[in-house]
Amino acid sequence: MALRLFNTLSRSVEDFIPLDPAGRAVGMYCCGPTVYDYGHIGNFRTFVFADLVRRYLDFRGYAVTHVMNITDVEDKIIARVRQTGLSLREYTGKYEQAFLEDLDLLFCRRPTHLPRATEHIEGIIDLIGKLLARGLAYVAGDGSVYFSISKYRGAGCCYGQLVNLNFDEMRVGERVKEDEYAKEAVADFALWKRRVPEDGAVFWPSPWGEGRPGWHIECSAMSIRLLGPSFDLHLGGEDLVFPHHEDEIAQSEGAGVQAPGKRFVKHWMHGAHLLVEGKKMSKSLGNFFTLRDLLGKGWSGREIRRVLLSSHYRETFNFSTEGLQSARASLARLDECLGKLRDLAAGNAGEPEEGVVREFIEALDDDLNIAAAWGVVFGWVKELNRQLAEGTLTPAKAGAALAAWGRIDSVLGLGGGGGTEAPPELVALLADRQAARKAKDFKRSDALRDQIKAAGWVIEDTPSGPKLKKA
Ligand code: AMP
Ligand code: ZN
Repeated sequence: MALRLFNTLSRSVEDFIPLDPAGRAVGMYCCGPTVYDYGHIGNFRTFVFADLVRRYLDFRGYAVTHVMNITDVEDKIIARVRQTGLSLREYTGKYEQAFLEDLDLLFCRRPTHLPRATEHIEGIIDLIGKLLARGLAYVAGDGSVYFSISKYRGAGCCYGQLVNLNFDEMRVGERVKEDEYAKEAVADFALWKRRVPEDGAVFWPSPWGEGRPGWHIECSAMSIRLLGPSFDLHLGGEDLVFPHHEDEIAQSEGAGVQAPGKRFVKHWMHGAHLLVEGKKMSKSLGNFFTLRDLLGKGWSGREIRRVLLSSHYRETFNFSTEGLQSARASLARLDECLGKLRDLAAGNAGEPEEGVVREFIEALDDDLNIAAAWGVVFGWVKELNRQLAEGTLTPAKAGAALAAWGRIDSVLGLGGGGGTEAPPELVALLADRQAARKAKDFKRSDALRDQIKAAGWVIEDTPSGPKLKKA
């Protein structure tokens, strides 16, 4: 069966067929963070979803070029730069670094390219120049440059490809920003924002005067530069469908850089929001947790990843402590089984067991049905536990099961899997306890065992020696 994915453009599930005639290379772009603060785990639901797509394409043998932009110039950033007195780079550098650390803590593969908007100003100016030359953009009296929706539509192009737009109602009532008073129509959006005194040192020269790029054009310029004018997959959270992605299409196709008959993006994918008590997790509602908040409460990146990957990417779900607890319990079940398999296999590495890998692929080929994929994994764990309890599993079969898990985990990215995930200091205590036992110092060995227990871990004796297990 082919990989099938929902395409927001056609509003249907389609076979995924790369543009590459050889069917191997895949270009994938996901809108990245605006680095004005720490991301919240709602943001990371989208980035973990992008990581799932990336990992599954890698797993399916595609050669993926994965691009994620860093928006490092924008209104909120400029306001903070002004407040803190730091330079733009000093300010955004801290949050960019934190973002990358968070990606690592959540076991996300690093994108192939992480372009910063401020390092692509030349490409942005070039693209705006093309839109002006084609009559689809105009320089307003104040030196800002806007994209004209009516001229774009007048040229026979469709604005409203990802969503059905009602042009009479569109953006009516939307507040016209003070610095956007000069545009001709309320629907038009800024490509280049002329410099204002509050921008301080944040501006670049351009043929239209000093200023900075609008947000939408950044993504068009960076994706085209790194993936070419037509590429396979574009991802983001569902709030980006309109206007951000619609505007990206208008700019990128309006610039006329594609080969005749080719689109900017073949396949658009949008992840549903992470909610808190039924409301979108967001900074503005104040109902958010950063990864750091949760790590500080004793949850691990692995448990949070498990929660973020628990539901289908097109379904919203509520983030809750119960969700984290059940993630912890399910990972403990998995780890315990994998630990037993390791002991039994005792280094026996076999070919991956076929059945479970095939079923896992069938689930994910179906528009990344992760809930079904978890069903496959935990059904398999249950069956393995039964065989382990009965003593009917051979070392060779245990080795094959572990090899199958290796394949599956290359997609799920839960890391470690089955090894002791215990903190290094507890592993050191366990080693001390072994030494004490060897020296027949049972008082000390018992004290060390109690210390380990107080930290929430127990020692389990296995054929290959004692192991730490979550209590
Ligand atoms: P931002 O840093 O605000 O530009 O957002 C980065 C990404 O996070 C975008 O793709 C958003 O669509 C996504 N996002 C924001 N809030 C949520 C949420 N509650 N759940 C899932 N994704 C979100
Ligand atoms: Zn974008």
